[in-house]
Amino acid sequence: MDNRNTNVNELEAAKQLEIINELKVSFEQEYEKTGKRKTYHIETFGCQMNSRDSEKISGILKQIGYVETDTENADFVLYNTCTVRENANNRVYGRLGYLGKLKKSHPGMLIALCGCMMQEAQTVEKIKTSYRFVDIIFGTHNIFKLAELLQTRLDSKRMVIDLWKNTDMIVESLPNDRKYSFKAGVNIMFGCNNFCSYCIVPYVRGRERSREAQDILDEIKGLATDGVVEIMLLGQNVNSYGKNLETPMSFAQLLIEIEKIEGIERIRFMTSHPKDLSDDLIDVMKNSKKICKHLHLPVQSGSSRLLKLMNRRYTKESYLELVEKIKAAVPDISLTTDIIVGFPGETEEDFLETMDVVKKVGYDSAFTFIYSKRTGTPAATMEDQVEEPVAMERFDRLLKEVQLSSAKSAGKDEHTVLKVLVEEVNSQDPNLLTGRLSNNLLVHFPGESELIGKIVEVYLAESKGFYYMGKLI
Ligand code: SF4
Repeated sequence: MDNRNTNVNELEAAKQLEIINELKVSFEQEYEKTGKRKTYHIETFGCQMNSRDSEKISGILKQIGYVETDTENADFVLYNTCTVRENANNRVYGRLGYLGKLKKSHPGMLIALCGCMMQEAQTVEKIKTSYRFVDIIFGTHNIFKLAELLQTRLDSKRMVIDLWKNTDMIVESLPNDRKYSFKAGVNIMFGCNNFCSYCIVPYVRGRERSREAQDILDEIKGLATDGVVEIMLLGQNVNSYGKNLETPMSFAQLLIEIEKIEGIERIRFMTSHPKDLSDDLIDVMKNSKKICKHLHLPVQSGSSRLLKLMNRRYTKESYLELVEKIKAAVPDISLTTDIIVGFPGETEEDFLETMDVVKKVGYDSAFTFIYSKRTGTPAATMEDQVEEPVAMERFDRLLKEVQLSSAKSAGKDEHTVLKVLVEEVNSQDPNLLTGRLSNNLLVHFPGESELIGKIVEVYLAESKGFYYMGKLI
C-alpha cells in the first residue's frame, strides 16, 4: 500500500472520529434531558470475518454513546448479513418482517443492514421496495463509515444507502469492541481473487488487499499488552497475504514476526487455500512453538474433474500430497475441511472420489454442505444441476463417512496431559470450566472461573468423541 493510500486512510479515520465525537455530544445532551441511554443490538450472520466486523461496529456505537442490549427491542438494531448460501438470505428476510412490526411499536427505532448480502444489487432493490422501514444500508467495504451514515440518517430522516463495488481502502485505528479479553480475531487481509465457480465471496468482499505488516504487528502487540494470549489471523485465503503490498511479505514471513511477540502464546489462522499453501509455511508451522496444531484445509471435492469445474486449481493427487507433507512436518496436526456435495455435473464416481479423500485424510471434522446456487456465480448457470434427492442421499452418506473418520481420531490424546486455554464456565454445569486444546477440541473440567483466559495443564481423563472430560493438573 503506497503513502498516498495511507494518507487517505488516515484522513478518513480522523474524519470518522470527528463525526463519532459530534454524535457523542448530541447523545450526551439527549441523555441529560431524558436520563435514558440509547440502546443497540447487533445480529451477526455468517463467518469469523463478519464477527470481526461486528466488533468494529459495536466499538463505534459504544463510542457514540449507545449501550448494548441482547434484545432486538432496541433503539438501533443492525443485521450484519451473510450470503454464502440461499438460506442465509431467507433467514434475514424472515427476521426483517418481525423487526418491521417491532418498529411500529417503537418510534424512533433505527434499523440498519450491512455485510455480504447487501453487496447484491437484487437484494437492495427488494429491501427498498418491500422493507421501506429499513433506515441504513451499507456493505462490506465501508464498515468504518457507520457514524457518518448514522449522522446522515438522523439529519435527513430518509433511508441512507451507501454501497461500494470495491475499494483499496483499509481504515485503521477506529474504536472496536472485542468479544473476548483473552483471544482475538485479527484481519490480515480482505477480499478474494480466487473466483471459485460456486462462490459469491469475491463479488461481495472485493479484490484482495493486505494490511501493512507493521499495522498487524502493532495491533497484536497492543492485544498482548491487554492480556490476549491467543490470536486468530483472518483472511479469505491467508496464503495470498502480502501480494499487493509495496514491500511484499509472505504469510510465512508474517507468522515468523508474530511468533516473536511476547505474551501471545497461541496463533491460529483461517482460511488456507490448498492451491498455494507453501513449503515455507509448512516449515514455519513445523518449527513454531505457538502455531496451534489445527489446520482448516477446505477440499470441497475429491474429484479432480469437479475441482477443475470449481476453479479450485489443485487436483485430488496434489491435495493428498500436500496433506502428507503437512502430516510429516506436524505429526499431531488436526485437519478439518469444507466439502460440497451436489455441485453441478457431480456423478456417483465423482462423489466416491470425495469419499475416498475423506478416508485417506482422516479428518478430525468437516463442514459439509449441499451445493447452493448463488446468482451471479459461474456455477449457477452450469448444466446438469444435481437433483435435490440425489444430493441429499449423498450428503447423508458423506456425513456418516466423516463421523467415522472423526471417531477414529477422537480420543487419541486420552490419558495424556495437554495445555488448554480456559474459555468459559461450562454452559451446562457451572462447576465445570470449558476450554480448548491446541487442536481446537473442547475439554470440560472442574475449576474456578478465575482461570478463564489462562492456559493451564489438564489431564484428559476420558474422551467423549468430540470433547474430553479432564482434571486440572
Ligand atoms: S477461496 Fe474460493 S471459496 Fe474461498 S472465499 Fe475465495 S472464492 Fe470463495
